[in-house]
Parts: sequence; C-alpha cells; structure tokens
Amino acid sequence: MTDFGLSEEHRELRDTVRRFAQDKVAPVIGDLYERHEFPYDLVRQMGEMGLFGLPFPSELGGMDGDYFALCIVLEELARVDSSLSITLEAAISLGAMPIYRFGSDEQKKRWLPALIRGEALAGFGLTEPGAGSDAGGTRTTARLSEDGTEWIINGSKAFITNSGTTMTSLVTVTARTGENEISSIIVPSGTPGFTVAPGYSKVGWCSSDTHELTFSDCRVPVENLLGQRGRGFAQFLQILDEGRIAIAALSTGLAQGCVDESLKYAAQREAFGHTIGSYQAIQFMIADMETRAHTARLAWRDAALRLVAGEDFKRPAAIAKLHASTVAVDNARDATQIHGGYGFMNEFPVARMWRDSKILEIGEGTSEIQRMVIARDLGLR
Ligand SMILES: Cc1cc2nc3c(=O)[nH]c(=O)nc-3n(C[C@H](O)[C@H](O)[C@H](O)COP(=O)(O)OP(=O)(O)OC[C@H]3O[C@@H](n4cnc5c(N)ncnc54)[C@H](O)[C@@H]3O)c2cc1C
Repeated sequence: MTDFGLSEEHRELRDTVRRFAQDKVAPVIGDLYERHEFPYDLVRQMGEMGLFGLPFPSELGGMDGDYFALCIVLEELARVDSSLSITLEAAISLGAMPIYRFGSDEQKKRWLPALIRGEALAGFGLTEPGAGSDAGGTRTTARLSEDGTEWIINGSKAFITNSGTTMTSLVTVTARTGENEISSIIVPSGTPGFTVAPGYSKVGWCSSDTHELTFSDCRVPVENLLGQRGRGFAQFLQILDEGRIAIAALSTGLAQGCVDESLKYAAQREAFGHTIGSYQAIQFMIADMETRAHTARLAWRDAALRLVAGEDFKRPAAIAKLHASTVAVDNARDATQIHGGYGFMNEFPVARMWRDSKILEIGEGTSEIQRMVIARDLGLR
C-alpha cells in the first residue's frame, strides 16, 4: 500500500518512535503531567535516539534527515503525548533552526552541537505581553553600548517555550535595534539582567516548559546579533512558516491518539447490554474522527513535501496548520464524549488530549492569522 510521501527510512523512523512513545512515554507521562514536571529523562532518551538532530547535517552531529522526517516524529510523539512533542518541535524549529539558518560559523560552532545532541535546549522569544499575533508591535529594545561592544536589552517576552529548564543554554529574542528595525539577538542563559519567571500554571502541555522573561539592562556581546541587523522580522516569518507544518503534524498526532483511545474504550465499555462501539452513533463519531485525522495528515505531508522540494509552501503550510488544529480540537471533544464521565477524569489519556488540544489553535499563529495568510495569498487585501 502506498504511504503518501513516506520512504523506507521514514517508515523505520516512524516505527521506532512509535515504539518509544508506547513503551517509554505512555507509562510515565500521566504522572509527570499531573505534577507539571518537565520530562528530563525522556528528553535525554530522545537525545540519545538522535531526534534533536533530525533535520541537521551530519557535519554538525545531525542525522542528515529532513523537515518531513521531523514532522513524522512529532506526529508519533503527539499520538501519545503533546508535551514531549512540543518540546522537540520548539527545540528544533524555534531553538536550533534560527541559529542553523542565520547564524555565523562561530555561533553555529558554539551553540549547535549540544542542541543537536539534545543535551541543551534553546528558546525563541518573539511574543511579548502586549504583542503576539501583531509581532511587529515588539517593544523590547536593544541598543549598542557607547563603545559599541555590547547590546543592552530591555523589555519582556511572554509564553516562551524551553526557556527555563536546567538544560536551556540560550534564548534568541527579537528586539528593536532602531526606529523601524527589529533584529534577533542570542541571550545565553544566566546572563545578568536576564530573568526567567517561574513556570506558568497552564491548562495543557503541563510537562512542557513555558516562562515569561524579562530583560533589564541585560548586556550581551555585539557578536550575539543573529544574522543581519534589521532582518529579525523577516527571519522569524520564515521560521514561523516552517513551524506551522510542524504544529500541523503534532495536531494530527493528537487527533489520531483520540481515535486510538476511543477505539479501545468503545470496544470494552458496555451500556444497555452491548459495547458502546456497537452503536451507530459512536461508530459514526469515530469514523468522522478517523476521516479528520487522515485529511490532516495529507495536509501536513503536502506542505512538508513542498518545503523539502524547495517549492513555495506558505499557503499549504497555513492550510495544514488551520485544518489540523481544528481537527485536533474536534477529535479531542468527541473522544471525551465517547469516554463519558471517565473522559473528564485526568487519569484517562483523552482528558490530557482535550486539555492539550486548544493551544494548537493559538500557538505559532492563531487560526485567524492562518486565515489571513491564506486570504492574502489568494490575492485578497
Ligand atoms: C503554551 C504556549 C507556548 C508558547 N510558546 C511560544 C514561544 O516559544 N515563543 C514565542 O514567541 N511565543 C510563544 N507563544 C505565544 C503564541 O505564539 C501567542 O500566544 C500567539 O501567537 C497569539 O498571540 P497572543 O496570545 O498575544 O494573542 P493576540 O495576538 O492578542 O490575539 C488575541 C485574539 O485576537 C485575534 N486577532 C489578533 N489580530 C487579529 C486580526 N488582525 N484579525 C482577526 N483576529 C485577530 C487572535 O487570533 C486571537 O484570537 C506560546 C504561547 C503559549 C500559550
């Protein structure tokens, strides 16, 4: 049977990660999630499997894979747990990739090896308390010191993933370096003037790491500018275009996980003398869930194949993110319904999936922003 876009290597990777998710993640993640703990041991194992180096070249210690391979892994992880999947997604897509794409040789040599081995994590600080979708409204500033050797950063960032773990080595932040100029600057963890607030109390993704960051006369060497001065806005738009495909793959995994859990439950739960899976109402709900997960998968694979082929993927990526995140929310709602009262109990994986689904319509560009991207690409102004 053809498996749209998957090579033999992709299939092997998918099966390996599927086994890891079922054997190592599923037994422990519920407890970690309830305690809002970051899964250091699982992240270490993912590092040993080479997952943090998937789309990077072997000269840098990577796996010589591609973005498609990364998306396969994100889908498989999210089929069991989304916190781990977003940790990997943000580590690669938002953490290491900007340095790989825009960094100097010196910056790549200094930061990438540990990130690629999964021994360190990096965050990407774009969102601010007063500017999310409208990221051009960035208020954080970076001015040069009088002798021109340092950037002095002031401002704050909100909701930054992977920014406060004990493994976090840096956060790349966007800041105003001139009147109409936004640049990206690398801020190493522990730099004086860089404060990481305690983790948020979140509805979902409870085993992922998210913090508010403040910068108060935080000084970093002038060499920490990432890419060209004034290109920060263009850089993050490129990074977010790719990230949309990754979030679509993650959303597809969550949607498929809802099908898995619903099939299991419907086969064993009895009501009125029969398993609930024998009732057409439940069968149709699961059939619709499977249909949605399948089309979400086709959408992210289409966008990822275009990205890997070097074709324009902006609209397909926005379509995939919009569709797959909607599907994830719909499937999580229906899976909870199929589980009845047990679906509302945190000990059941579908409760975690329900809590994890909503952010998918918000993070890395809300559904409204995806619609704006699609409409503009269709020529509507
Ligand atoms: C758990 C979590 C992790 C995150 N990780 C990161 C991270 O690592 N790095 C990072 O930089 N950010 C991160 N974010 C931030 C996330 O990307 C933003 O929350 C998101 O982009 C939305 O921005 P906002 O919250 O400011 O909402 P707003 O932009 O204030 O939007 C509020 C509402 O208004 C709508 N809206 C806004 N403008 C328009 C418009 N023109 N037309 C129609 N509707 C509009 C939005 O769609 C939304 O429904 C994270 C957020 C969360 C919750």
